[in-house]
Amino acid sequence: MLSVVSVAFVVRPIAVCARVAFPYAGLRIAAKRMRPAPIFKLIVLLFLTGCAHAPQHFESRSGPVALARVRVEPWTYDGEPARRVVTPHYVVYATVTNDDFLESVGQLMEGALAEYRRLAPDVPDTDRPMECYLFATRPQWANFTLKKTGDDAAIYLQINRGGYTVRDWYVAYFLGDVGTFCVAAHEGFHQFAARHFRTRIPPFLEEGIACLFEDVTWDGRLPRWDLSINYGRLTALRKAVEGGGLLPLEDLVSMHAGQVINRTPAQVATFYAQCWGFARFLWEGEGGRYRPALQEMLKDAADGSLFGSGPPRLNAGVFWNPKSAKPMLEHYLRADLAAIDRQYQRFLNQLVTRAKNAETVEGG
Ligand SMILES: [Zn+2]
Repeated sequence: MLSVVSVAFVVRPIAVCARVAFPYAGLRIAAKRMRPAPIFKLIVLLFLTGCAHAPQHFESRSGPVALARVRVEPWTYDGEPARRVVTPHYVVYATVTNDDFLESVGQLMEGALAEYRRLAPDVPDTDRPMECYLFATRPQWANFTLKKTGDDAAIYLQINRGGYTVRDWYVAYFLGDVGTFCVAAHEGFHQFAARHFRTRIPPFLEEGIACLFEDVTWDGRLPRWDLSINYGRLTALRKAVEGGGLLPLEDLVSMHAGQVINRTPAQVATFYAQCWGFARFLWEGEGGRYRPALQEMLKDAADGSLFGSGPPRLNAGVFWNPKSAKPMLEHYLRADLAAIDRQYQRFLNQLVTRAKNAETVEGG
């Protein structure tokens, strides 16, 4: 999450995150504080996560039953031959020229969109395709970033490997098949949120939801997801639980990028793992009790009526108040945060225990 703190207690999350396949790198930008004196700090933090797969359980995975209509067309970038991948809902501009791979990217984005909609079924469609940029090399990506992101380019260029999302388009460069699919599916959710949500959900939750889509597998040419599987996040979560390093939920819910500055890579990995764990908790924890609340929250974000948020945003420059997160969650989950935290902690411990047990069984 890339955030600019512009006034006291108010955050403008201007973009999202970046990552690589494995290990996973993230960009965190903090913060322009207007009190007591203006400061601008640029921070890049590295964190580990997964885009690596655990043993696969295809029967539990969902995804499209048929191939999407994907067209790979000629394009030019900087005078060089390039490609444009056109699907029903996306246009991916690419300097990668492997047509088979680009066909897969098109299938991935359409499949991911269906997964986003499965998670947020009451969010209305939009009638414009979403734009994505996928570069073959980092220098191309950097060149594009300089041209397209203005004063913010200096921020994005701090990314060591990975991608970012600005407004409702994302930019990535090739990180190998698995890493690129992971980035695209993750950034695609930020893009989906930016396009469809008129009010912002808490950034930690958006981050966690985006992490749900990272583990992409393939059944032939069709992408597959199991929102309960993310080996890298689970590994980081396990380390945090076993090391006693979990953040209190009350802190986590109001966190944004700037607040993980200066922490160790392990602590940043913990932040992401907990975001992922919370999104997964809402999706499947307590027997699925909170899934309707999550979906109601996303619907309200889309129609601009999100409880406790500011006015609907007209563009990506919306401000977000970290203090809105706690009452917002308590409203939708119909419980106080302390009670939610107890359930959340129990859920995380269950995940870790199951992972340990599975390891014991596999190890004989
Ligand atoms: Zn992200």
